[in-house]
Amino acid sequence: MTQPARVRFAPSPTGFLHIGGARTALYNFLLARQTGGQFLLRIEDTDQKRLVPGALEDLLASLRWLGLTWDEGPDVGGAYGPYLQSQRKEIYQAHADELIARGHAYTCFCTPARLAELRTRQQQRKEPPRYDGLCRRLTPAEAEARVRAGEPHVVRLKTPPEGATSAVDVLRGEITVHNKGLDDFILLKSDGWALYHLAAMVDDHLMKITHVIRSSEWLPSLPLHAMIHRAFGWDEPQWCHLSVFLKPSGKGKMSKRESAELMTEGHSVFVRDLRELGYTPEGVVNWIALMGASFDEKQDVFSLPELVERFSLDHLTPAPAAVNFTKADHFNGVHLRRLAPEDLARRMRPFFEKAGLAAGEALLRRIAPLIQERVVTLHDGVQMAGFFFREQVVPEASALVGKGMTPEASAQAVRAASEILTGHADLADPALEAKLRDLAERLGLKPGQLFGILRAAVTGQTVSPPLFGSIAIIGREKVLVRLAAAERTLRAM
Ligand code: GLU
Repeated sequence: MTQPARVRFAPSPTGFLHIGGARTALYNFLLARQTGGQFLLRIEDTDQKRLVPGALEDLLASLRWLGLTWDEGPDVGGAYGPYLQSQRKEIYQAHADELIARGHAYTCFCTPARLAELRTRQQQRKEPPRYDGLCRRLTPAEAEARVRAGEPHVVRLKTPPEGATSAVDVLRGEITVHNKGLDDFILLKSDGWALYHLAAMVDDHLMKITHVIRSSEWLPSLPLHAMIHRAFGWDEPQWCHLSVFLKPSGKGKMSKRESAELMTEGHSVFVRDLRELGYTPEGVVNWIALMGASFDEKQDVFSLPELVERFSLDHLTPAPAAVNFTKADHFNGVHLRRLAPEDLARRMRPFFEKAGLAAGEALLRRIAPLIQERVVTLHDGVQMAGFFFREQVVPEASALVGKGMTPEASAQAVRAASEILTGHADLADPALEAKLRDLAERLGLKPGQLFGILRAAVTGQTVSPPLFGSIAIIGREKVLVRLAAAERTLRAM
């Protein structure tokens, strides 16, 4: 049995949760649950300027909706809190001081004007922008005196001038950078706030994180992060940088604008939108779980507990994954079909309500089995089954005309069918279908011709759930009214 993992999802509340973040959270969650460890939620909100109102609430709500519950976090607490970085300022300052005392960091008093000038000169010489180490040469006593005098300063990491730094990524093996040319990164800003590099490493250590599973955008920072751990003399966590998401075309990463435009096509990369579009947590989880991992050669449909059971870091791949919305639809449909009809009914209800249709739970429960095989999203139910809840339906006049028939003959067929329905006590009785088949024969029609007319008349649609099941649910009174309206339309053609 592997050691219980302590892992964290550490989003910055700078936007709504998208499928990339959700997938990172998912893999962390799966490892924690698989190994009987803990899943932490840590909010990296030190950069107050970038905070987006509502983003934190959205992160919590979206993760909960997906079923990725955390054991420690800002709202549930835990032994290693606080879990909001904005409440940990002193902890980072103390750690920056410790690194200075250990000789691995130094205070830098260079003004923004000097740094800008330095950058311009470097650009002119076509050199990469980096700090030139001026303040690294101050003695500790000089630096301390200037700090005491209140001179604004930052804290920088002392990167080694020579040699190389290596760190191991679980998916990619050893990553090595040459130290020569590395920048003396800022750890603490002049306002006393830690930058991500320091804050995240300190927290990962103090929160006893065993595996850092995160987006591959942080891969270039890996050597630096390893360096910070080593400068403190800490053991490093295992590092795992996930695969990149590409556009559906597979060419390049998706831009913000492209992400926003997707919504108009009924797709989205944001969890809150997917929820609104009628995707289920089960479908979304299954979809994103397979973008960057394979769990089984013979199977690709998994529930969250099934994923927990099978998860292992060995299943992850570093190869980029193109976002494929056809697969999102596929998995969503599959999971909708796995639901008990009552559950499907319960989940569809809010979508009917939003469409202004007062759909009662009991009725929806009867309808659910009729459409369960065909719905791709919960919202599809409204399109397929809205006619059950409307007072009237308004079929296209042309749809009421039977295939190869005249409006007149179609009207007569409607009238005859209507008489049969009136005389039939129980519309749910299977004998009704037999009677209408007899009618078709008597009128010299194929059953499909007659049923096509009736379908358009009672559902208002050319495609609908099974006709007789629908008629039974709509009920005699409404069915007869709709047939009469259809007959009037046909006679007026
Ligand atoms: N706050 C960082 C982000 O949102 C977290 C990266 C990490 O997991 O260490 O990208």
